Parts: sequence; structure tokens; C-alpha cells
Amino acid sequence: MKKILIVGAGAAGLIAAVRAAQTGGNVTLVEANTRVGQKLLKTGNGRCNFSNLHISPEAYNHPDFVRPVLNVWDCTQVRGFFEDLGLKSYCDEAGRVYPVSDTAASVVDVLRLSCRRWNVEVLEGFKAVHLTDTQVKAEDGRCLCAEAVIVTTGGGTKLLSGVGHRMVPFSPVLGPLATDTKPIRGLSGIRVKCALTLTRADTVVDRECGELLFRDYGVSGIAVFDLSRFAKSGDVLHIDLLPDMDQEQVFACISQYIRMLSWRGKSDMLTGLFHKRINEALIRICGTDVHRLAETIKDFALTVHGIADSKQAQLTRGGAAVFEFDPFTLRSNKNDALYAAGETLDIDGRCGGYNLHWAFASGLRAAECAV
Ligand SMILES: Cc1cc2nc3c(=O)[nH]c(=O)nc-3n(C[C@H](O)[C@H](O)[C@H](O)COP(=O)(O)OP(=O)(O)OC[C@H]3O[C@@H](n4cnc5c(N)ncnc54)[C@H](O)[C@@H]3O)c2cc1C
Repeated sequence: MKKILIVGAGAAGLIAAVRAAQTGGNVTLVEANTRVGQKLLKTGNGRCNFSNLHISPEAYNHPDFVRPVLNVWDCTQVRGFFEDLGLKSYCDEAGRVYPVSDTAASVVDVLRLSCRRWNVEVLEGFKAVHLTDTQVKAEDGRCLCAEAVIVTTGGGTKLLSGVGHRMVPFSPVLGPLATDTKPIRGLSGIRVKCALTLTRADTVVDRECGELLFRDYGVSGIAVFDLSRFAKSGDVLHIDLLPDMDQEQVFACISQYIRMLSWRGKSDMLTGLFHKRINEALIRICGTDVHRLAETIKDFALTVHGIADSKQAQLTRGGAAVFEFDPFTLRSNKNDALYAAGETLDIDGRCGGYNLHWAFASGLRAAECAV
């Protein structure tokens, strides 16, 4: 039996361990924490949105690199793999896939139990500090040897740089954005369904639709998280508060409200259109100028200052440069017996199950190829 060592027992490492053992490997899985799968437990607000019906290479920063793996392990295949381990899943109206139990603990549990079923040796409290393609050393001096090593240490880890892999600098993504706060004063906690456009020097960088949550420091919500993959300080975020209407329709709509001004009074002029506090902010910014109101509703512009709080970001962009790995096998081009999977590679995708899908799909693929 080929001896396989997997470093890091998160999403990618756990599934790689199960797959490597199923396909005939003699597997040891090491984890720095005292428990495996700790981050997985926090995903999807504790519900673990682990895949998406609409998985496609274009949803990731390196489409050509992820394509071969996603061709083998698409949404149906990954769900099927989990189904065989005993995990039932369902899909919501947006295509997001969750365990039927609606708890992330079920995902960790089926993986943990499957490791036991397939005789994977799991060593917790093993923090790898040094690596070759056949050997891993821990902080406490322990040393393990194998015929192949799969690195799945997650985002923001540099283990692979020790074996000569180039690292793309880290930065937090999929998080809330800090913006100008003056225009959004008083709006914290309010959610709107809107269309978002991010521009840099008048060029469109990205567009998203969905829910936005105003915060004291800026904006949050899934659509904002998706935009944050592309946002830089100095970019402008354009919020269209009435995306289903064109400019003319909005103008006509506001003209109707302006006609009510005489009997409603200025402060209640827009009552019935948006949340009271959004109405107040619009009147504060535009007064009763119908053109300005219509324009601002279609283009509520905020200057972006960057990711608001890196601790709230779901992902670390950067990691081991993908051009040094084979996209079909995930094997290192520098070290014959070394593989990598999950977020330790410089791969990031959209919100909605895309990142866990990559972790699982790449973990499965690396395991099969390593064995
Ligand atoms: C709050 C939150 C919510 C999220 N929700 C979702 C979601 O719903 N859907 C989605 O698709 N994505 C979600 N993500 C992103 C998702 O969690 C990651 O994409 C995924 O966990 C990456 O899997 P991984 O196995 O590569 O890394 P990780 O899950 O981070 O696992 C890496 C493991 O390696 C261990 N490790 C690190 N260094 C060492 C070392 N030197 N030696 C030994 N072990 C080591 C770590 O302790 C860890 O257990 C969320 C992220 C966060 C933070």
C-alpha cells in the first residue's frame, strides 16, 4: 500500500484522506489544531454551504487551472461522494448546496467517521513546520515519512514556500467593504436588494446583484463579499437602489412623490418608497431636486477604502502559485511526490459554496492522483 501523508485536516485534507484510503492508500492525516475540521464548523453560518449547482471555472480567479479538476468533480459528483458517506444534501433556490441537517457538524462528522472506517491514522496537535516531498517535521520534533505528501494547510499558510514554491502575496477577500461613511450615516443595519457596479478610473471592474447591508463603516452582504474579490482602495461602488426600473421610470416615480410634497411635507416626501432611514438619507443628500433624487437612486456612489475587517473575510487570496502545479493531477512541478489542494493554492471563488467545492474537489483529485 502506498504511504500517503496529508498535512492539514480541514475540508480539503479530510476528504483527501478518505479518498486516498478508499483508493488503496495507507494514509496518515496530521492537523495542527487539537480537533480536525474546526474551520468547516463555522462555514455557511454553521450550516456549511459546501457546493453550488452553478459551479463553473469562470467563478474562480484561475479558470484554466481549476477546469480539469471541476470537470471530474462537479457538483453532482461531490454531492454523490458525500451521499455515499451518508451525508444527505439539498439545494436552495439560488443553487447553494447544504447538508439536509442544516449543520456543518454533520459534514465534519461524516468525514471524521469515514476516516475511521477507512483506517486513516489521524494525528491532532501536529503542527508541520518543515516539508519535503516525502517527509514532514512537526514543531515538537516528530518526523513522518511517506511516499507522497498532500499539503492542505488552507489560506495564509506558507509551508509550500519551504520547498521552493513561489507564493502569491496574501490578502483577505470575501468580506465587508469600508467606504465613505458620510452618505450612509444612519443607515447601519438596513438591507436593500440592489444592483452593484464597481468601477476603477471610470472602468467597470465587476457587477453583482443581491442584498446589501449598510454598516457604520461601509457595506456588507453577499453581493458585497463577491465584489470584494476585485475591490481596491479608491474604487467607486455604485449602488442602484431600484434595479428593476430604468432612469426614466425612476424619474417618473420620483416626480409622483414630488407632487405629494405639498401635503406630505419634505421629511415624509418619499414615504412608501424605501426604508424610512434611506428616504431620509436621500432627502439629506439631494433635497427635493427631482433630477438629483432620481440620479442618486440609480447611482448611490460610495468611495471604497478596502476590506473593512480582515477577521470577517471568508478567504485569503494568494498562496502557492498555481502555475507550479499540474492542473490535472495537482502535483508539484518541483517535487515529484508533492501535491496540494484547497485554499493553500492561490485559488479563490465566489460566495455561495464555490470555495468549499474547490477544497473538496481538489482534495479528492489530489488524493486519487497521489495514490
Ligand atoms: C466564517 C467563514 C465562513 C465560510 N463559509 C463558507 C461557505 O459557506 N461556503 C464556502 O464555500 N466557503 C466558505 N468559507 C470558505 C471555506 O471555509 C474555505 O474555502 C475552506 O475551509 C478551505 O478549505 P481548506 O481545507 O483548503 O482549508 P482549511 O479549511 O482552512 O483547513 C486547513 C487546515 O490545515 C490546518 N493547518 C494549517 N497549518 C498547518 C500546519 N502547519 N500543520 C498542520 N496543520 C495545519 C489548519 O488548522 C486547518 O485545519 C468560509 C470561511 C469562513 C472563515
